[in-house]
Amino acid sequence: MTRKIAFLPGDGVGPEVSAAARRVLDAVAETHSLSLKYNEYLFGGAAIDTAGDPLPSETKTGCLEADAVFLGAVGGPKWDGGALRPEKGLLDLRKALGVYANLRPTSIAAGMEHLSPLKIERAKDVDFLIVRELTGGMYFGDRTEGNDTARDECLYTREEVSRVARIAFEAARKRKGKVASVDKANVLATSRLWRNAVNDLHQAEFQDVEFSHVLVDAMAMKLIQAPADFDVILTENLFGDILSDEASVLSGSIGLAPSASLGDGARGLFEPIHGSAPDIAGHGKANPVGAILSAAMMLRYSLDAGEAADAIENAVAGALEQGRGTSDIGGEDTTASFTEAIMALIE
Ligand code: ATP
Ligand code: MG
Repeated sequence: MTRKIAFLPGDGVGPEVSAAARRVLDAVAETHSLSLKYNEYLFGGAAIDTAGDPLPSETKTGCLEADAVFLGAVGGPKWDGGALRPEKGLLDLRKALGVYANLRPTSIAAGMEHLSPLKIERAKDVDFLIVRELTGGMYFGDRTEGNDTARDECLYTREEVSRVARIAFEAARKRKGKVASVDKANVLATSRLWRNAVNDLHQAEFQDVEFSHVLVDAMAMKLIQAPADFDVILTENLFGDILSDEASVLSGSIGLAPSASLGDGARGLFEPIHGSAPDIAGHGKANPVGAILSAAMMLRYSLDAGEAADAIENAVAGALEQGRGTSDIGGEDTTASFTEAIMALIE
């Protein structure tokens, strides 16, 4: 079976880190006898420059026909303030793909504890996954905007809550079997609906998963005080936006963290959490790990190749343990030499 990947290098360091991810994917395809086919498309600022559209129709069609979509990064100062925005392409792509759940794992690799702002003893054993609802809530509600009064609507339906909760419970079954659902049910009506819908799904289908509710303000503290207590953290769009940025600093470098966006069915969108990093683009020093671990998530969640994903994650952990790395994590490697160190450890 050949797996089709729509490949969108994008802007800034996007092409550099996605090339690194592709080299690692090719290495693991060989050791695991996978057949991967890449179709490359213009996207973001690069697509604005050549096609006058951040999401050209050829790109969109190619993504919809693929088994998975891999993205480097979009945007940059060149397009800031322009009539066409690269980031609009990303919103439209997410919508076209119907991805309503954003998954961001956070872990602190052995030997990397010193990069974390956490005390060493708290940094040990940190390994959790935030599942954020991506297409509902306050960011998509009606708004009225006046000089003296403004209003943002937050709306959720039971269906929207249940489908993202299902992704969280299923992810927990493949991890440590725990879900903490985050809301503000002591104040917000949408949070009480959230709590009821998640409870009902847990009762009906996921009683084997250990389950708790945490208020969002408490969670903001617990992520710092006791991050190792958590496995899967499920939350709505606005809270998830804030908590995942908080989580991203725990591991020490924005260059290390991957993400996946999933919907119904297996096809997902995979990208490092960092942006286009225009300040370092073209210098060959971008950390490729966020992109490489996003490729591992792609293998696990969209391409039914969990063992190949494990092989990549183990190789990354091994290279970090050997002290390899780019300058953002205190290493002396270039993007290319760090990538080669990781490839050498693929089994
Ligand atoms: P966005 O595009 O989401 O607005 P941003 O401009 O806020 O993102 P980034 O582009 O992620 O942020 O860059 C933030 C900082 O992190 C920059 O100094 C950048 O050089 C650094 N950075 C981002 N990605 C990497 C990477 N892969 N390796 C090393 N440093 C990185
Ligand atoms: Mg930016």
